[in-house]
Amino acid sequence: MDLNSGRLPWESTLPEIPAYPVLQEDISCECLIVGAGMGGAMTAYKLSLSGLDTVMIDKRTVGGGSSHANTGLLQTANDKSLTSCIHTYGEQNGVLFYRMCQRAVRNILKLQDKLDINPHIVTRPSLLYASRPEDVPALRKEHHTLIAHGFDSEFWEADKIGANYAFTKPGAIYSREDAETNPFRTVHSLIHKAHAVGVRVYEHTKAVHFKFEDEGVICYTEGGRIFAKKVIFSMGYETQEMKKDRGADLINTYAIMTRPLKKMPKWHEQSLIWETARPYLYLRTTHDKRIVIGGKDEPLTDPQRREVRVLSRSQRLLEELEALFPELKGVEAEYAWGAVFGTTRDGLPFIGPHPDYPNCFFIEGYGGNGTVYSMIAAELVTDSLMGKLRPELELFSLTRSAKQVPTQAVEA
Ligand SMILES: Cc1cc2nc3c(=O)[nH]c(=O)nc-3n(C[C@H](O)[C@H](O)[C@H](O)COP(=O)(O)OP(=O)(O)OC[C@H]3O[C@@H](n4cnc5c(N)ncnc54)[C@H](O)[C@@H]3O)c2cc1C
Repeated sequence: MDLNSGRLPWESTLPEIPAYPVLQEDISCECLIVGAGMGGAMTAYKLSLSGLDTVMIDKRTVGGGSSHANTGLLQTANDKSLTSCIHTYGEQNGVLFYRMCQRAVRNILKLQDKLDINPHIVTRPSLLYASRPEDVPALRKEHHTLIAHGFDSEFWEADKIGANYAFTKPGAIYSREDAETNPFRTVHSLIHKAHAVGVRVYEHTKAVHFKFEDEGVICYTEGGRIFAKKVIFSMGYETQEMKKDRGADLINTYAIMTRPLKKMPKWHEQSLIWETARPYLYLRTTHDKRIVIGGKDEPLTDPQRREVRVLSRSQRLLEELEALFPELKGVEAEYAWGAVFGTTRDGLPFIGPHPDYPNCFFIEGYGGNGTVYSMIAAELVTDSLMGKLRPELELFSLTRSAKQVPTQAVEA
């Protein structure tokens, strides 16, 4: 699958990119991770702490898949509001899902001090504004739901938004405890650390075929076979080429990063910004005074068409940016890209085993919070491999259907 088009920003932020060999022999391991993006990286790091003999392969280079297109927002709130999650999955599971996201953001923030390559993870608040006056009642309700369940939330009226930003909107939720990251540096820093403590990493090593047996899995690559007792598939959106999930959809999305600005516009605490409209627009700043803005989702097209559309979609994103911050008139994008993006119909990622693939786990962090889901997945899958029961996996089951709303999940 051709995942990304246009000019992406992150490689230029890591001058000495760690490189890993191509697999050229038969090897064996306790656990094989297929895919060195955010999902694989967080899991490799967690497994390295547990001491499990682990191998990681990627058909591209580390971080060269969708994680390369990631805009780096880390939030507790999801594409689906807490109110809506409670409505769909019941109060216990809706709140559990949000708590797991909150804990994952906190755990990602703790990584910063443990890694040798700085992943540039910084705490940020979030502003979720009402795109239209009609959205205000639901946003106000969401604020009350968040507060009732112990999540941080302030409701801001239009005048408070106008006092703190260059724009005004009919209402907003302002919440703390979110974060931003440089996704490429994060993936590399995690894998670099995992490799340093024994995880064997191979790039340009494509898994072309698998043989599933009772005692393990044989993974065939062009350079050699890998005999693994367990396999974790963290192949991102390309998992859909191997095993189509009925509840998953792929679309196109777009983003730009501006040149560094001389002066930041009126932008309270460099918050993450997003909105109630669907598909939504989202924005953040970077440590070197740039602005990242993304959105303009559309149905999946062929990669050639997406490549052509990067120009017109990035122009639309610049117009949206100028509409919010008029003082930025004439601002230029240094980077503009389009990419495949995966969502699920019920708003939850897919994480866990699948009955057709014995000895395997899947990590499919589809949705706008893919990095947060990667952290949730890394914890659940690592614990499961180490023999610890994680009933929360039921919430993210690959075989769930709308009628099978889980009721047993409990937070460990
Ligand atoms: C434009 C854009 C903006 C986004 N912004 C955000 C954001 O702000 N915050 C957020 O949390 N999420 C965001 N996301 C989502 C986020 O990028 C993804 O959820 C996340 O990067 C997925 O990581 P992954 O490891 O699952 O997939 P990937 O990063 O794609 O990694 C999978 C890897 O598997 C490898 N692979 C596939 N098949 C094989 C094979 N057969 N053999 C060997 N290797 C294989 C691929 O080469 C790839 O490197 C964004 C996504 C896009 C496209």
